[in-house]
Amino acid sequence: MPRGDGSLSKDEKQKVIDWVNEKGVHHNCPVCGSNNWGVGDHLLSGMPYMGGSIVAGGPSYPAAMLVCNNCAYTRHFMAVKIGLFSAGGSSDGE
Ligand SMILES: [Zn+2]
Repeated sequence: MPRGDGSLSKDEKQKVIDWVNEKGVHHNCPVCGSNNWGVGDHLLSGMPYMGGSIVAGGPSYPAAMLVCNNCAYTRHFMAVKIGLFSAGGSSDGE
């Protein structure tokens, strides 16, 4: 379970790497062709479109990010699907 500030532990970062490898994700960067990725230190929080308004405390979709170490292109992977959160996913858990 990621910390309250969305940061990932070393084990959680490894879980992201293992999940991506297990799924057979193609590793060449679609922008520069490099195959040199790092896992971001924090989760990103994507919010659903709500008619142009930002809803504080509304639903969000936390995602782990892989960042190309050459060109900084960023890929997002849903944290719930990876298993970093339980489905229904509040920060208190499983
Ligand atoms: Zn790249």
